[in-house]
Amino acid sequence: MANLGYLQVVRHCNHVCGFCSNPTTPYSHDLESMQTLVDDFVARDYFGVILTGGEPTLHPDLPAIARYARDQGLHVRMITNGHRLAERSFAEAMADAGLQLVHVSIYSVDPAIEAELRGTEGTLERAFAAIENALRVGLEVNINCVINRKNADHLDRNVKALTGRFPQLRHFVWNNLDPSMGRAEVNQDQYTPRLADFELSLHRALRFLHKSGRTFRVEKVPLCYMTDFAWASTETRKIVKGEERIVYFLDAKQGVRQTEWDHLYAPGCDRCTLREICGGLFDRGDGYDPAELAPVFVDRDRIVQTILEDPSDPARQRIGLAEWRVLHAERVARAKEEAAEARRHQLPVVGQITDKGLRRFEAKRRAESRRTAERNLQMERLAEQLPAGPDER
Ligand code: SF4
Repeated sequence: MANLGYLQVVRHCNHVCGFCSNPTTPYSHDLESMQTLVDDFVARDYFGVILTGGEPTLHPDLPAIARYARDQGLHVRMITNGHRLAERSFAEAMADAGLQLVHVSIYSVDPAIEAELRGTEGTLERAFAAIENALRVGLEVNINCVINRKNADHLDRNVKALTGRFPQLRHFVWNNLDPSMGRAEVNQDQYTPRLADFELSLHRALRFLHKSGRTFRVEKVPLCYMTDFAWASTETRKIVKGEERIVYFLDAKQGVRQTEWDHLYAPGCDRCTLREICGGLFDRGDGYDPAELAPVFVDRDRIVQTILEDPSDPARQRIGLAEWRVLHAERVARAKEEAAEARRHQLPVVGQITDKGLRRFEAKRRAESRRTAERNLQMERLAEQLPAGPDER
């Protein structure tokens, strides 16, 4: 297995994206509390850790936790908006600390759209500088992109512009917007796309990358919107390989161990040949419309085989289709039991709430309230950010 764990290092950020699903909280980490979580990934034999946020580069101990994780044998990655990596010395410090791979998030290569999505001017040029620095100091660079209503029509233009400027980029990751949390939940009318809005531009982007020999992953997009590249679906790969994921949220959710990858389905999904390996529609509310789902009748085993034989996959299992069918049937039979076990399983406590953390949280909330109000956006609800009694605070 190549399980990857997510560790939210901070939850504050220097950008104010209107669809942020992990906005600021009063919780904070010190080096020791992060080391506890890294130790937990190591004890579970995880392949790597993804340091994320908020904006993880805002934590003063980021190089120290990267070094610690690397010393414990984990593959060390980071997701960042690139603001601090645009400083050469910071990029060097992170590379020296053992960081191996950085996901720079860029939503649009149109500077005005990127600035609008981030609620902050000048972010695209800084992200470009971050990519340049990261490549110069020897880090592998992937591009992350949240699909939303404002970039849905030009995902292909994004990859062409980015690979044109940085031919060294080899891997892209898309996440369809999660409309169930944070500011994404309360600003759905501005950001949640229809699946049909991005179907064509996503397909063009994937086809372009595939033809150029690059790789990619797509999360939270049902397979009927990416049938030609179904093997690149994050959920499908995890279903096929029986992988899990732990996210250490720096909020009231704390640690979440995910062993099931299926979301919502429409009645027609029962007839779909991909139902068993499809994550369906990622929606825990009514952000997306199940009426957009349509059964497909393509060869499931061909997709499974492509995943099993993927030479670029560090968790390549080297098993044949017949063996996989037996393993998969056993996993499906055990799935409910394993999910219940995963929910029961005790995970370490994540972070702490200190006076300093509370003061920063309140100051950030005031500043972000002003910036979102200027753009006619709403601030996130507090329920998930606080441990108890949020309405009384
Ligand atoms: S119809 Fe349903 S099961 Fe089939 S690909 Fe679409 S979401 Fe998945």
